[in-house]
Amino acid sequence: MKPVFSIIAPIYNEKGCFDELYRRVSEVMDKTGEEWEFVMVDDGSSDGSTDMIRELAKKEKRVRPVIFARNFGHQIAVTAGLDYCRGEAAIIIDADLQDPPEVILELITKWREGYQVVYAVRSEREGETWFKKTTASAFYKIIYRITDVKIPMNTGDFRLLDRKVVDVMNSMRERHRFLRGMSAWVGYKTIGVSYKRAARFAGTTKYPFKKMIKLAFTAITSFSYMPLQMAMVFGFISAGLSIVAIPVVAILRLIGSQFFFGQATTLIAVLFLGGVQLICLGILGEYVGRIYDEAKGRPLYITSEAPDNK
Ligand code: UDP
Ligand code: MG
Repeated sequence: MKPVFSIIAPIYNEKGCFDELYRRVSEVMDKTGEEWEFVMVDDGSSDGSTDMIRELAKKEKRVRPVIFARNFGHQIAVTAGLDYCRGEAAIIIDADLQDPPEVILELITKWREGYQVVYAVRSEREGETWFKKTTASAFYKIIYRITDVKIPMNTGDFRLLDRKVVDVMNSMRERHRFLRGMSAWVGYKTIGVSYKRAARFAGTTKYPFKKMIKLAFTAITSFSYMPLQMAMVFGFISAGLSIVAIPVVAILRLIGSQFFFGQATTLIAVLFLGGVQLICLGILGEYVGRIYDEAKGRPLYITSEAPDNK
């Protein structure tokens, strides 16, 4: 029989959180009185989490293990979870217990009221560094401003998705994935539930600054042309300024002014515009590189062990 709820957790070296995750999720899900399954996606762990998933799956039939051949990244791991889940509603949750499993009950209540997407909004964040909080907050603001879909601020991937939404998202096979944006793009009846984000139960963050920057670039390039448009706007502004400057410089020369003599001004202008052009080329490169990745058409992930049926 198909379960009503699927819990999806991406797991990358979460040995210290594993037992507690299963214990707390089971405790909460048993309260719903419905059939549920736990899709555990092992994203190429090397700390023994993989064996812990295997062992648990042997004991507990509701655990569906999906084991990757290597580390493919958080967003891809969640994608695999969505591919392999069978429930009427899927709940995505981090394995480090920063998203308290107890909030799932609130998400389910909203789903029963008829919402197809119930996302959890972080009203407070505990146990995170000043740097992480500041960069995360700047990230959400930028994404909110410049993307074409309205991605709610301060939301992560902790959310409930109805089967309808899961099916649509599973049909979107883009490589560079920003799931929060994709879920907002799909639409349907959506609501937020606020919660206090807890500190990590054990271990350290698997999202160093470099990965955060990568995710930010994916979010922007997947949902906005704004950086490309900015290059054009800048081009118009500098071309416009130079057209105005031509008669000004000519007149100043004719009346004998010394204002625009010397190499320094020329050098600065050349370096400045050269720099701007390279930046624009880099922005263009970001988009072209992504097109190249899509064109290769490689599978999103490789599993070494996975359930037979999706
Ligand atoms: N994660 C993953 N693959 C990765 C990095 C992270 O599956 O390459 C998982 C990780 O195990 C956790 C979730 O994604 O369940 C969120 O990661 P983390 O808690 O380290 O990120 P943070 O909360 O610090 O942003
Ligand atoms: Mg975390």
